[in-house]
Amino acid sequence: MFGFTEEEEMFCREVRRFAQRELAPFAKQRAKTENPYPIELRRKMAKLGLFGITLPVEYGGQGPGGYVKLGIAFEEIGAADINAPNPSSSLVAGQYIVLYGDKEMSREWLPGLIKGEKVGCLAVTEPECGSDAAAIRTRAKKEGQYYVLSGEKTSITGGADADIAVVFAKTDPAAGPMEVTAFLVPLDSASIKRTVFSDTGWMPMRRASIFFDDVRIPEKYRLGEEGRGFLYLMKHFDYLRVTLCIWVLGAARTSIEEAISYAKQRNAFGRPISTFEGVAFKIAEHATRLEACRLLCYRALWLKDQNLQHTKEAAMYKWLGPRVAVEAIHDALLIHGHYGYSTDCALEQRLRDAIGFEIADGTAEIQKLVIARQILGKGYAP
Ligand SMILES: Cc1cc2nc3c(=O)[nH]c(=O)nc-3n(C[C@H](O)[C@H](O)[C@H](O)COP(=O)(O)OP(=O)(O)OC[C@H]3O[C@@H](n4cnc5c(N)ncnc54)[C@H](O)[C@@H]3O)c2cc1C
Repeated sequence: MFGFTEEEEMFCREVRRFAQRELAPFAKQRAKTENPYPIELRRKMAKLGLFGITLPVEYGGQGPGGYVKLGIAFEEIGAADINAPNPSSSLVAGQYIVLYGDKEMSREWLPGLIKGEKVGCLAVTEPECGSDAAAIRTRAKKEGQYYVLSGEKTSITGGADADIAVVFAKTDPAAGPMEVTAFLVPLDSASIKRTVFSDTGWMPMRRASIFFDDVRIPEKYRLGEEGRGFLYLMKHFDYLRVTLCIWVLGAARTSIEEAISYAKQRNAFGRPISTFEGVAFKIAEHATRLEACRLLCYRALWLKDQNLQHTKEAAMYKWLGPRVAVEAIHDALLIHGHYGYSTDCALEQRLRDAIGFEIADGTAEIQKLVIARQILGKGYAP
């Protein structure tokens, strides 16, 4: 894949226009608050179809496929506002419902998720385990036609405000490490409490801990078979990691664009600082690295659209992309000199936000384990 189709080009222009008009002008101001984004903004994003990509047309979605399109949307939104409502958690919740839930569940939840009226989140991480996700302790005990859910999920993006969560739990404490079950859990129960994180970045995304205190869930809210939740999760993680990467690459692209215009108008020693190789080469290097990562991400999404395996590729871009983005934003800040270090300039905030992408959905070390196991083979990898 060396270019977008005409339809993808048009979509790109449309999302860029929207994101530059509706998101970019308020991004810096919103990043400072811990308030969730206004519902009106989510509705506008939904009108562009951003919450319905890959989801069935009968519920208002765009139909199956379209992962390259999803990447385009994420790149343009990330470029305008790194903290904008990220459709990925709602999308994954929607996909889980379609693939592993029943028709009634789809009718109940999909229209709201696709219109941006309802928000989903993905609850895997627990206080005692993140990278070692198989070690989760949250328990779903079967009692007649119900499961009783107890445990704590933590670090959940959007967890403070989400309406539903895809929660991973063990139905049997003696179950093997991979025998985890997924549930769709409406978060309006009185037996569910939430606390919001005080975060370094991502503030409007309202990362939260969610406490389940014997929450009764009808059996029909189990997603797929008992003990297979992890297998389902791994299938989704691959493309999710790529979209996360492309979002932060968008933010880095904007940062380098800002560095370029600043370097052209800022003078030192009687000439624009862009005319010093020390500045110009930095910009050239970051532009190259960002473009390389961006193309790799689109290749992985293209593989996903062709139903081809892309686990190794997704892991490669998930560790490299956010690192390259963080370094680009850091240098963009340095090119802005003392002004870059001030909170008047968006770069310090974008740098803090970008670091979150290095951790979310799995750290660099975990991605390298995935890659090493594929490249070296079982028995020869760490
Ligand atoms: C901004 C943000 C958003 C997030 N959103 C969500 C969400 O929506 N839902 C959700 O469920 N979770 C979410 N998370 C949690 C995230 O998935 C975990 O933080 C991540 O998987 C790492 O787990 P941990 O924090 O427990 O670190 P740990 O697993 O404790 O790891 C700590 C350090 O040890 C290293 N390490 C661990 N094991 C190994 C190993 N085998 N080899 C080498 N190094 C190792 C790690 O790389 C890391 O540097 C989010 C996190 C952040 C920061």
